Amino acid sequence: AKSRAGAACVFFESAMRTDSRARLESEQAIGRAIALHEFVLEFQPKFQAHSRVLCGFEALVRWERPGMGRISPADFVPAAERTGQIKALGGLILDLAMRQLTEWQLSHGRLVPVAVNVSPLQFEDAAFAAGLLGELKSRKLPAEALEIEITETAAIAHLDQVLPQLQHLRTAGVLSALDDFGTGQSSLTLLRNLPISTMKLDRSMIEPLPEHQAAAVVKVAAALGQALQLNIVAEGVETEAQAQSAEALGCTQLQGYLLGKPLSADAAGALLSASTGT
Ligand code: C2E
Ligand code: CA
Ligand code: CA
Ligand code: CA
Repeated sequence: AKSRAGAACVFFESAMRTDSRARLESEQAIGRAIALHEFVLEFQPKFQAHSRVLCGFEALVRWERPGMGRISPADFVPAAERTGQIKALGGLILDLAMRQLTEWQLSHGRLVPVAVNVSPLQFEDAAFAAGLLGELKSRKLPAEALEIEITETAAIAHLDQVLPQLQHLRTAGVLSALDDFGTGQSSLTLLRNLPISTMKLDRSMIEPLPEHQAAAVVKVAAALGQALQLNIVAEGVETEAQAQSAEALGCTQLQGYLLGKPLSADAAGALLSASTGT
């Protein structure tokens, strides 16, 4: 029995070693990718629920890893958050988003807001908001052109750092959205206290629509958002039935594969042109 336990233990340790080596390798690979700027953004359109007019984009990061194709953020953002590398990566992502805004401003004259997902770790830098506002100013971009998306769970866990900086951004005109609403906790108090303009109802709330009980939940969430004068975005809309139900229940904007998948910068620019007639 003793030798068996010993063997299990050796196996366990070697599994741990492999795991920590894999972690180190992934940290080094992400570090190289940041240094070599191997990240690109795709842009998923958002539409007014009623008119279906384009009203913004959400920037979604992808890692163009040489020889491995486009890697999804789900496969490297959590690792980058564990190591703190998300701070550098997040800065790179904001830079890419602002570059794209500048390009569209020059070629289209008109902009729709681009929302960027920001990790709570980025708010640990107390000068994050001020730095971002400085960047917008030096690039001559209107504050309204950029939006910040922050998840509910993240906002709760880092409220002391997040709150004053969101307030600072809001005062200057940069709007914020509470992302993945319905997947976290204590949403009611948080919603009232956070300086946000938008709540995004998570795909898990939208997916079962128009089923009766799911509709009741979305209706209550949307009524809450409405009472607080927020935009209410339904995320992950894949069917026309979901779209119609979400709109009827009070969602003001729709995002999802039904109306538009994440697009390359060029395809998003073409959509912008078509929607503005330029
Ligand atoms: P998220 O912020 O909730 O973004 C929405 C995700 O849902 C995106 O996945 C999008 O492609 C996907 N999606 C949109 N519409 C539909 C639909 O109709 N059906 C389905 N099944 N999925 C849909 P993606 O691009 O893989 O991003 C996953 C997550 O990674 C994001 O979730 C966000 O939390 C994170 N992420 C993405 N880009 C960034 C970034 O630049 N910075 C940070 N910190 N996180 C990011
Ligand atoms: Ca998001
Ligand atoms: Ca979301
Ligand atoms: Ca989500």
